[in-house]
Amino acid sequence: MKIVLIGAAGGIGQALALLLKNYLPEGSCLALYDIAPITPGLAIDLSHIPTWVAVTGYTGKDITVALEGADIVLIAAGAARKVGMDRADLFNINADIIKYLAEKIAGACPEACIGVITNPINSIVPVMAGMLKKFCAYDKKRLFGITTLDVIRSEVFVSRLKNKDPNSINITVIGGHSAVTILPLLSQIQHVKLTDEEIEALTRRIQNAGTEVVEAKVCGGSATLSMGQAACRFCLALVKAIQGESNVIECAYVEGYSEYAPFFAQPVKLGKEGIETTLGYGNLSSYEAIALDSMLRALNDDISIGINFVNNHQ
Ligand code: NAD
Repeated sequence: MKIVLIGAAGGIGQALALLLKNYLPEGSCLALYDIAPITPGLAIDLSHIPTWVAVTGYTGKDITVALEGADIVLIAAGAARKVGMDRADLFNINADIIKYLAEKIAGACPEACIGVITNPINSIVPVMAGMLKKFCAYDKKRLFGITTLDVIRSEVFVSRLKNKDPNSINITVIGGHSAVTILPLLSQIQHVKLTDEEIEALTRRIQNAGTEVVEAKVCGGSATLSMGQAACRFCLALVKAIQGESNVIECAYVEGYSEYAPFFAQPVKLGKEGIETTLGYGNLSSYEAIALDSMLRALNDDISIGINFVNNHQ
């Protein structure tokens, strides 16, 4: 199994590379790529950790060599949000990077599963999908916007409030991956009862958790360590599913499986070829149904930004 991590020298990239070196199954190959020249050195640094995961590092023109033979490509390349930066600034920088990477992936490993971390996810995943379509290398079963950070934040915040083990709580988060488009289904948590006030406060905190980190880091970037952990959880789930384990379920932002929007975060069952099937998420409470209804405009506007970018770059 070969996993390629693009943007490996960044805050998320380095945390994620360390976790993958430690937790990928024996015999896996981890290839790191970044435009930063430090990247081959990061691979050597990691290779001194005693696990049976081979690490290689590439920079500059070697992106195709890094990508060849990939089963999974994780993308954390791009600018991160800083205080005062708006989403349009972030989109304009990162969409160009994603366009370039789509072309490289289409050429080198068109069959790979792709996990996109780069923000703004709501618009960037449509850019990746559109560009892969342009290069005739798209399969909706194999493209994921990684929204696992919303899931782990939900699980942690609820478990702290109720003094429970966070690993005993599973929370489905649907919609998108920014502000009001993030909708944790807190009415459905098994063995945990939350009041209406608690649900409202938790929902707001989960939706604003990214900003909480950006502000606390005081001009030092956005979530990196928790995002590394979240992306590692998603990647290990995908690895298990590709290797034949059954019943592997994670939430992800995917195309073409929802009646609400063309791209939508929802629980998916993973299999050898990527998405095996999508799963329902039960009945929404009236609070959740209203929240879903009122986020759809913002989510569809974000998706249109990505689609328009693709149409203007044909
Ligand atoms: P960072 O600035 O620390 O790292 C980004 C890395 O990307 C840098 O090392 C840079 O050299 C590299 N890079 C830039 N252009 C590249 C290219 N063309 N090819 C390869 N590498 C390239 O940023 P970060 O904090 O690691 O965040 C990375 C991305 O993840 C940002 O877009 C951020 O907004 C996003 N993010 C996503 C989530 C999520 O939940 N999905 C959470 C937090 C941050």
